[in-house]
Order: sequence, then C-alpha cells, then structure tokens
Amino acid sequence: DVTLTRGQEFEDYFLKRELLMGIFEKGFERPSPVQERAIPIILQNRNVLARAKNGTGKTAAFIIPCLEKTDPVKKHIQVLILIPTRELALQTSAVVRELGKHMKVECMVSTGGTSLKDDIMRLYKPVHVLVGTPGRILDLSEKGVAILTQCHTLIMDEADKLLSPEFEPLLEKLVLHCSPERQICLFSATFPVSVKKFKDKFIHHPYEINLMDDLTLKGITQFYAFVEERQKVHCLHTLFTKLEINQSVIFCNSVNRVELLAKKITELGYSCFYIHAKMQQSHRNRVFHEFRNGSTRHLVSSDLFTRGIDIQSVNVVINFDFPKTSETYLHRIGRAGRFGHLGLAINLITFDDRFNLYRIESELATEIKPIPPTIDRELY
Ligand code: ADP
Ligand code: MG
Repeated sequence: DVTLTRGQEFEDYFLKRELLMGIFEKGFERPSPVQERAIPIILQNRNVLARAKNGTGKTAAFIIPCLEKTDPVKKHIQVLILIPTRELALQTSAVVRELGKHMKVECMVSTGGTSLKDDIMRLYKPVHVLVGTPGRILDLSEKGVAILTQCHTLIMDEADKLLSPEFEPLLEKLVLHCSPERQICLFSATFPVSVKKFKDKFIHHPYEINLMDDLTLKGITQFYAFVEERQKVHCLHTLFTKLEINQSVIFCNSVNRVELLAKKITELGYSCFYIHAKMQQSHRNRVFHEFRNGSTRHLVSSDLFTRGIDIQSVNVVINFDFPKTSETYLHRIGRAGRFGHLGLAINLITFDDRFNLYRIESELATEIKPIPPTIDRELY
C-alpha cells in the first residue's frame, strides 16, 4: 500500500524529461514515502541503507535515480542491480524498461538457469543497466564479459537475502569489480545482523532511511474523559477552548462520522479539513499536504494512516471515537520513536468503551489517566 506522502512531487527532483514521462505513463502520480527519501539521496551519490515495508515502492525508489544518473551516450555498464531470485530480477528489469521507456538506456537481465552463451552475445552490445542474480553476474564479470570497472551505482534489493552466507562472498568480490568510487544502496524490509559485516566493510557513512520504526507512546501523555455520546461535540468544543492546540488530528470510527463531525466543527467556527478512506488517493494526498502546510488547524480523520502521524506541529490527537483495537490506537497516537516531540492524546470514552479502554491500556502496557481540570502546558 503506497500511502500518504509528505507532499513532494516527482517534478521536484529535476529529473530528465524523458524519465518523468516514463514515471507518469506508469501511472505514478506522487512519490511514496520511501521514494521521497531515497530519490534525492541516491541522486547525491551517497551510500544508502533503506528499510521499508513490502509494497511501499522500493523498486522505483532506486530505479528512478539510477536512470537519472545513467548517461546513454556512454557505452559501458553504469548501474548494477543485484537481486536474490530470477523472478524478481525479471520483474525489476521490466520496471527499468517501463520507467526508462523514453530514454535510450539499455537494460539487460542476467540470471542463473539461462544460457551463458546468450548473455555473452547480448553483452556484445552496449548495456547501461545490468540486473541479475549474484552468481551469474560474478561469472560474467570474472570471464571479462561484463565489464564493471566503470559501474558507479550498485543496488542490492532484498539485501537481507542477498547478504545471507550463501551469497555474501560473491557480493564482496562483485563490489571490488565495480568502480572504486561506487555508490552502494541496500534496500530491504529487514536488516538482520548478517548484513553488518558487509556494511562495516563496504558501506561507509551510509544515509539510513528507516520507515519501519516501531511506533511508541513515549513522550505522549494520554488522558480519557467519560462522556455520553450526545455530549461528545460539546466536550470537543471545551477541549478546543481550554487546550493550546497547535494542530490536532481528530479520529472517528466511520467515514460518515468523519464528515458529520467536520461539518459540526466548521459550524462551531473552527477551520477544519477532513480525510477518510473512501476519498480518492489524490484527493487525500492534497488534503494531507495542505494540512501539513498548516492551512488548517484541525483534521478529522478515519483510520487511514498506516503509520503514526509524523507531523511535527500536531501536538494534540483526539479520539472522538475510541478505537476497537490496541493496534489502531497505536497507529493513531503512536509515533516513530526517534522524533522526540511531546504530545497529548485525549480519548472520549462512552460507557460502552470502558472495557476497551482497560484492555488497550493493559495490552500496550501504558497509562491512560482521567483528564484533569487543567493540563500542564509543559506536556505538549
Ligand atoms: P516493494 O519493493 O517496496 O515491496 P514495489 O516496488 O514492488 O514495492 O511496489 C509495489 C507496488 O506499488 C508496485 O505495483 C508499484 O508499481 C507501485 N508503486 C510504486 N511506486 C508508486 C507510486 N509512486 N505511485 C503509485 N504506485 C506506485
Ligand atoms: Mg521489492
């Protein structure tokens, strides 16, 4: 699920026009979070370690900058993409061809289990981007057929598998076949300790992208207020007047309730946007982008954030409707640990919610306290 971005556009990276055309023709409107972080850094020729969940767009995150950095006029291999399996290699080379459709970039895929002779013949013609599995590529390189000495970018996808004991010695050799100024980028959902040896040896001062931070409730003070359903809006209004809200996200449990509440908040005279799972992705991105830019103070939302709300200026999160599971609670309130900013979470609890409250509190081993008459400004 390629979800909400931080609001960048592909146009922001000053990519070649032919590449942008390929991106748009593939139907990508905006970069996904891992793309947003990886593309500019890879373009700067830095070593990268990128961790992100499956299905978040890692492939294009490295192919786009690789294509940008490839000079079709030069006739040598400039980019090497290593992948543990044949199927993935084929799939990845297809993405290179699609995104590079309007560029004069030659991509070749080479994996074990196919004719070595064919590969040798194909490498007679210029190849700019070579995609394949480590064994075959090493073989071609050692035979002097694939010349990697001017290969400046080495990508290892599914790096955890690539750096397993089975492949690791091959990769060490391959790295040394590439240009001494090579850039190495590792992409994976996990980086087990087995990666460490290789990393320490070859990947100096990497830029680390980690979109897998476990969400934590550290730094977030959590309160609950017992209310009746019909008092909720009134209660929210009181919170608005008493709290010093920089920006807030207010969660409801259904799409209908999101729209209704947003309407009521607007009627009360507050600026407010809403966002929910039934809206089109592009519309959602726009709303989120605007909210991020501070165009409005409040955002009413359904559960569509796949991660914690990574917006520095949101200092209050309100569960207008209390979530049913601790997982949802964590996704609404929790933040990636290393952003140490403080925040307030306020839960409106009806009679029916009370057991959920106790359960979630104990499952997350956290404390949700009754709301005091005044809340210390230091807490948020
Ligand atoms: P990962 O390697 O992280 O598991 P993939 O690179 O295979 O994920 O991408 C998953 C899916 O998301 C693919 O179908 C891909 O075409 C699509 N995708 C990638 N980037 C974007 C984008 N910016 N906008 C829309 N779809 C995208
Ligand atoms: Mg992948």
